[in-house]
Amino acid sequence: MTGSMRNDQKEETMSEKSKSGHCLCGAVKISAVLANHEAGACHCKMCQRWAGGPFVAIACTPETTFEGQDAIGVYPSSEWAERGFCKHCGSPLFSRVKSDGSYYLPVGLLDDTEDLTLVSEIFIDRKPSWYSFAEKTSQMTEAEVMAMFAAPSGEP
Ligand SMILES: [Zn+2]
Ligand SMILES: [Zn+2]
Repeated sequence: MTGSMRNDQKEETMSEKSKSGHCLCGAVKISAVLANHEAGACHCKMCQRWAGGPFVAIACTPETTFEGQDAIGVYPSSEWAERGFCKHCGSPLFSRVKSDGSYYLPVGLLDDTEDLTLVSEIFIDRKPSWYSFAEKTSQMTEAEVMAMFAAPSGEP
């Protein structure tokens, strides 16, 4: 019915896959290649400490590039991911999945985020009780996330 028009509009926004961004001080400039326009939030305690609150991220492909490599520090936060930050201003820059080189970028780094939608929340059972997002999202608990990441790769 009204589906075709909505699909057309969606394809238009989906074609804008590249987005620019930078850290707070500008030492690191980002050319992000978005996997999609669906943002997700992680409520795990690691992300809360790292990002200062829930980590709202957008999935980006390994083609994503960073200018100012000298300013990028990398913290090996887990066996399967590492987290980048700006050595000068402290901005969180990315969580990189070691197995496939894909990135989760903090959406706040990007210059233009108006075409993004918040669609998912993970580690929902770790979310503090004092905030909740109003958006209707698909939600996964810690156990569900662990099961999802462990299954496809078979890596420890
Ligand atoms: Zn910086
Ligand atoms: Zn997290």
